[in-house]
Amino acid sequence: MTTQSISSTTVMVSLSVIFGIALVIGLLVGSFLNVVVYRIPRGLSVSKPRSFCPTCQRQLAWWENLPLVSWVVLRGRCRTCREAISIRYPLVEAGTAGAFVLIAWARHGSLMTIPYCLLVATIITILLIDAGELRSPLLVAALGTAIADLVLVIIAAAGSHWSVLVGAQAGTLAGIVGFSALRRMDPGCDCREGFGRSALIPAGCWLGGLGLVAAGIGAGVFLAVFLLCVAFNRKSGKIAPRSDENPAISSSTGLLHRVIGLPMVVSVALGTAVGLAVFA
Ligand SMILES: [Zn+2]
Repeated sequence: MTTQSISSTTVMVSLSVIFGIALVIGLLVGSFLNVVVYRIPRGLSVSKPRSFCPTCQRQLAWWENLPLVSWVVLRGRCRTCREAISIRYPLVEAGTAGAFVLIAWARHGSLMTIPYCLLVATIITILLIDAGELRSPLLVAALGTAIADLVLVIIAAAGSHWSVLVGAQAGTLAGIVGFSALRRMDPGCDCREGFGRSALIPAGCWLGGLGLVAAGIGAGVFLAVFLLCVAFNRKSGKIAPRSDENPAISSSTGLLHRVIGLPMVVSVALGTAVGLAVFA
């Protein structure tokens, strides 16, 4: 074996170890996000009590709480009350793990994987809360982006990646401005952080760090989908009022309500694709 092939094998092995770690951490974070998404909008603590069945209130044993595995072993039902456990739980766990591995791959297993995993976890949390009946508090976007951005600044500064550092700050600022503008356009709605709008803040931090092309495509996609939503919903006069405030508003706005969160997902997905093309 030549020295070069030995070193490339070492890189391959250490990269697969990093992907494995990203997968396990992603599953655990996904499991935690399921708890956060249920408890935060209901004003419950995310740490206490331990996980319980929302129907029969029984606290779960450790083995009933393993990401993916427990849902399969329990065949999607609570052990005591036999109430169905939503397929959303294993899907969120698998989706978060998949996103973490993809980011680790795009970042070649570098430390930069960490802030982007924090950002994607924040975006997943906001979109899942906003897809339900209750709204995500702005605190989720603010805290998630602040922690991710702090980690990003430290790692980028240590590696002298100044364009990433500056771009992420500019993107975060653009996300905050965009979020505030959307809130002003829809003052009749009391759920000010609703419809995935606050996900613009972590998405801005993400896309800004990837550079102008990614940020431009992300912003363009968001604007196009947003304007389409406004055009479809012109008659109601509002972008997406909450259905429980106005029973006359039918499921068509309920659907729109979900669609509004979509631009952020599409923007981030496109931004990641561009990022992969640039950095891979
Ligand atoms: Zn139960």
